[in-house]
Amino acid sequence: MGRKLLLLGPPGAGKGTQAQHIAKLLGIPHISTGDMLRQAVADETELGMQAKAIMEAGDLVPDDLVTALVIERLAQPDAACGYLLDGYPRNAAQADTLTDTYGDDVFDTAIAVDVESEELVRRILQRAEEQDRADDTEDVIRNRLNIYRADTEPLIGYYRDRDRLAEVDGVGSVDEVFGRIVEALR
Ligand code: AMP
Repeated sequence: MGRKLLLLGPPGAGKGTQAQHIAKLLGIPHISTGDMLRQAVADETELGMQAKAIMEAGDLVPDDLVTALVIERLAQPDAACGYLLDGYPRNAAQADTLTDTYGDDVFDTAIAVDVESEELVRRILQRAEEQDRADDTEDVIRNRLNIYRADTEPLIGYYRDRDRLAEVDGVGSVDEVFGRIVEALR
């Protein structure tokens, strides 16, 4: 039976990169709501058109839209034996929906990768120069960070209290952080 993992962490903590490594190591699909939403925007689907401006502002896309996407994705056969959910849940309502829909065993461990805010802004601005993401301007980054601290970070305490949390320091090279995650998942 594969692992069922959640990945939590602020924007710019390197979640996407780490998620790819973890998914490969464990042979489970990497399910990223951010990636799925960016794809919907690129494909100009109805969902993409609803999500585009919200994402560009760094705000959260409405829960029901993202939840529908996740439920559809988790129903795919490759997710039957495990997955790494990256970017969902993002707030208490989504966390509740997840357990209400699938039960407590919807995940065995939530991995929280943390990095302090100023380091994150520096990293994201650097990434903005390398890639071309409309949600990588400084104002938008600060908005995304504020939303993370207000809405998403409380989930970390919630999962810690339920003994489902693996906390990892996200400062260091990709390999260093990955090593910490692997250790924490043992
Ligand atoms: P990410 O790649 O995870 O940083 O997500 C990029 C953007 O997609 C976020 O800033 C949100 O606008 C949107 N998004 C991703 N996941 C969610 C979610 N679970 N709930 C609401 N919005 C989301």
